[in-house]
Amino acid sequence: MTLMVVCTNPNCKKEFPSMIQMDQVSFQTATLTNNSQPCPYCKKMITYSKNNMKFE
Ligand SMILES: [Zn+2]
Repeated sequence: MTLMVVCTNPNCKKEFPSMIQMDQVSFQTATLTNNSQPCPYCKKMITYSKNNMKFE
């Protein structure tokens, strides 16, 4: 399983692997807010939190 981010750019919305990698148990208890990472598709620096993330 890979922790994925959904791009917050409404014109993009693509999924890419987060720079944060953890197991699902840790993810459920972790506080993940205001993480910044450039989207590899639209090249925008996006700020994402837990509700923009999912395991795939
Ligand atoms: Zn994007």
